[in-house]
Amino acid sequence: MIEVNKKQDCCGCTACAAICPKDAIAMKEDNEGFLYPTVDKETCIDCGACERVCPIIHTAKEKPFEQAAYIVQNKDQKILRESTAGGAFTAIAKYVLHNNGVVFGVELGTDLMAHHVAVEKENDLYRFRNSKYVQSSVGGGTHRQIKSFLEQGRFVCFSGTPCQIEGLKNFLKKDYDNLVTVDVVCRAVPSPLIFRKYVEYQKKVLSDNIKTVRFRDKHYGYKYSTMNVITDRNHGNYHQGVESDPWLRAFFSNICDRPSCHSCHFRKQYRVSDFTIWDCFNVGRFSKELDNDKGATRVLVHTKKGREIFNAIKDDFSYVEIAPEAAIAGAKEMKESVASNGKRESFFKDANRMSGEELFNKYFPETFKVKVEHCIRLTCYKLGIYSAAKKLYVRLTHKY
Ligand SMILES: Cc1cc2nc3c(=O)[nH]c(=O)nc-3n(C[C@H](O)[C@H](O)[C@H](O)COP(=O)(O)OP(=O)(O)OC[C@H]3O[C@@H](n4cnc5c(N)ncnc54)[C@H](O)[C@@H]3O)c2cc1C
Repeated sequence: MIEVNKKQDCCGCTACAAICPKDAIAMKEDNEGFLYPTVDKETCIDCGACERVCPIIHTAKEKPFEQAAYIVQNKDQKILRESTAGGAFTAIAKYVLHNNGVVFGVELGTDLMAHHVAVEKENDLYRFRNSKYVQSSVGGGTHRQIKSFLEQGRFVCFSGTPCQIEGLKNFLKKDYDNLVTVDVVCRAVPSPLIFRKYVEYQKKVLSDNIKTVRFRDKHYGYKYSTMNVITDRNHGNYHQGVESDPWLRAFFSNICDRPSCHSCHFRKQYRVSDFTIWDCFNVGRFSKELDNDKGATRVLVHTKKGREIFNAIKDDFSYVEIAPEAAIAGAKEMKESVASNGKRESFFKDANRMSGEELFNKYFPETFKVKVEHCIRLTCYKLGIYSAAKKLYVRLTHKY
């Protein structure tokens, strides 16, 4: 029976709960807001299925194989504008839907939390565009629903973090020709509890009625992407970047990540998915044409199925093919876990007793330095020198 003695030994993929033949495992939120399995010992028959599917106990061994790599930019300007990077995911998902398929991805629900859901209509794919920088819940029936679609012969696409993909693959136990998996290079997944605190904070600052949140908006371009909070009052006019928005500051300071992300088992070049997708900020190194500040995705193709799909959709993109080694060079998050912030423990302690406003004002206050940095970034953007200034900054500091 699955027992989580150390928090870093559970990534919250929910494969264990899904495989249980007695439905004896429930995913319960801990005091940091992350879901962990709890077993009803009365109902459990100790069959061991939950341990067999755990991707942390049974992580896929990394074996080198032939890969292909591309940098892509979706030609559809609306899709490109709404996507985090170059809109690679929508093109893959569209292909699956055009072949009578079903696509599973992460949306920010009306409850302002991230959930895995399924869509069958192309018009609904917008729900998956844009990364939600908070751990998604893979609801109770998702794994079983996917298996049922696969057994019916439907084409299925599942996208998520690398741990969610390995959990699903272990749950399914065999390879299906009609399954396409897409994972992201993932720095870490932050806490849903802290995100709720952020929403509480923004309700105080902006308006009680928050319609939705976009974590990577391109209002000021791709290279200065911002958090966009849309309320009943602001006409979507909240755009703050990593230097000033409290959520982005929390995310990029690793203060509220899931403990397993700090010793992640799934950071590797050779993965079990068909595609791995991630950002390409230094796109100018590979292509002048794609260096237009509209966004570009690096796509690493792992399988023959992935190569066939890429060939079928490549006309949706402006793209360049590059060597896989060049694609992954400098992508630290692909192979190395991020270190935890030294203030993590006190941050969560405070989160359990403070309001959202008190918490974020204590740890991420809007200081003079923050205001100045925001002002500098905006001025560079308005002068049209943001990309050049950022390039210089990265060259001098080696920081992104
Ligand atoms: C939590 C998280 C951390 C990331 N960290 C990095 C990083 O460190 N470096 C980097 O280069 N790129 C990172 N990415 C990937 C990056 O943000 C883009 O998703 C990627 O470049 C693809 O962009 P796109 O425009 O092609 O597709 P998009 O339109 O961005 O497609 C988004 C895809 O991500 C999935 N998704 C969205 N939110 C979640 C979530 N919470 N959990 C699981 N899946 C989700 C959607 O289902 C969809 O498949 C991260 C993404 C997430 C979700």
